[in-house]
Formats: sequence, C-alpha cells, structure tokens
Amino acid sequence: MSANLPPSRASFRFYAELNEHLPPGERYCTFEKEFFVPAPVTDLIESAGVPHTEVELILVNGESSDFSRLIRDGDRVAVYPMFESLDITPELRLRERALRQPKFVLDVHLGKLAGYLRMLGFDALYDNRASDHELVRISAEQNRILLTRDRGVLKHSAVTHGYWLRETDSRRQAAEVVARFDLAGLMRPFTRCMSCNALLREASPAEVQGRIPLDVVERRDPVTECSVCQHIYWQGSHYRRMRRWIEQLSAAATGARDL
Ligand SMILES: [Zn+2]
Repeated sequence: MSANLPPSRASFRFYAELNEHLPPGERYCTFEKEFFVPAPVTDLIESAGVPHTEVELILVNGESSDFSRLIRDGDRVAVYPMFESLDITPELRLRERALRQPKFVLDVHLGKLAGYLRMLGFDALYDNRASDHELVRISAEQNRILLTRDRGVLKHSAVTHGYWLRETDSRRQAAEVVARFDLAGLMRPFTRCMSCNALLREASPAEVQGRIPLDVVERRDPVTECSVCQHIYWQGSHYRRMRRWIEQLSAAATGARDL
C-alpha cells in the first residue's frame, strides 16, 4: 500500500442497540471513518466495535447491501440491528430468518443460563471445556445460535447466528434471550434435563420409588426422568418457584407485544 495515497473516508451511523458497542463519542450520531480502499463493509463495521452477528441490515447510500460490499470514498453507511418484530422485506435481510425451533450453544461462562434455557425447553448445548474455536464450529455446523458475553467470539466470520448478552445475571439473561428471539410461544417448560440437555420422559412414582421422597410417591405427583443421565424431576418447591417465574416471563412477553 502506498504511503502517498490519502485514506478514503465514509460516514457511518449505527442504529438502536448497536450503539451499545460503540465508544461514547460515536453513539447515536454520524461519524467518519478513514480507511484504505478496497474495504469490505463488514470489516469497517467490526473495526468500529460491532460484531457482524448483531447486524441485520446495511444501507450504503440508501441501498441495501450485503456484508461483502466494498466501501468507497464518500459512501454513507447506515447499519441496523435485527428487526425481530418489525416488518422488513425479505430481500433486505442479510440472512435467513432466525431458525423457527431455535437451538443454542453457550460459551463456557454461561452454565447457569444453559440450565434455565433447558428448563424452558430449549435445546442448549453447554460444555465448560469447549474452546472458542469449537463453539464457532458447532454453531455453524448445527445451526445453533451462539450465546456469549464475549464480543470477540462473535467476530469469527463463520458465525452467522450469534448474540451478545447484555445482562450478567443468569435468570435475567434467560428472559433477555426469550424476549430477543421472541420465544415465549415456543417455551416447553420442564421437558428437558437441566443437567445434560436430553429430553425427559414421564415415569411412574412406582418406577422411581426409593429415588424420590416418600411424600411425592404418596401424592402420586407427576415425575419425569432424564432418558440419558437418569436424573429425576418432581414438583417440589423449586418447581413451584420456577413455574411462577415462567408465568412472569410469559406475561412480560405478552405485554411487550401489546405495546
Ligand atoms: Zn440428563
């Protein structure tokens, strides 16, 4: 690259929650970036701090563009986040719609969130020994949405479906995922093992006698057993607390849609 060539300049404007990734001086305003041509738009977006997985729509000089679009001197770039609840035409989308039965893979710090998502019935892979490289590969090969608190992971080009969690508390993170991917209607609570992600099957109290408290047997409460790790679930106080929380999640989601 010749040192004599002046850099090119383009203006950038990021919308809605994408601003959370920008330094304070660049949020909610148009700013200029200098670069040397040819520069793919996705590189410029990521160098501004925004993972490409957060981006749903890019307009260059008012026209919808894909990630490989080369940016030239004087271009105006507008970058929008996912429009889960807004109606935008299919040809403006950068990728297929979010998978209808969404599956997840979680980074190594999100074990508690994995448990909550499984409790809600979602397929959530979690292994506390997985490397970033493995997480990216699993996400791509199995069409799983990669959940992480690490923006760097989402900058791998192989990640097409990924989401950077804003919340730090695991229960709030679960609510965030349900709201973000509009999952309230897809919840199947207490159908999946919180420990290993396998589906649960119904078991008769007699079948699991000796492995559950006597009063559960006497009340003939419904009992489920994991088909893989044989963990047994019954409707104790934890179950009742969790059921209340799930009802609140559903109510919040319905309220949000009515707004
Ligand atoms: Zn299990």
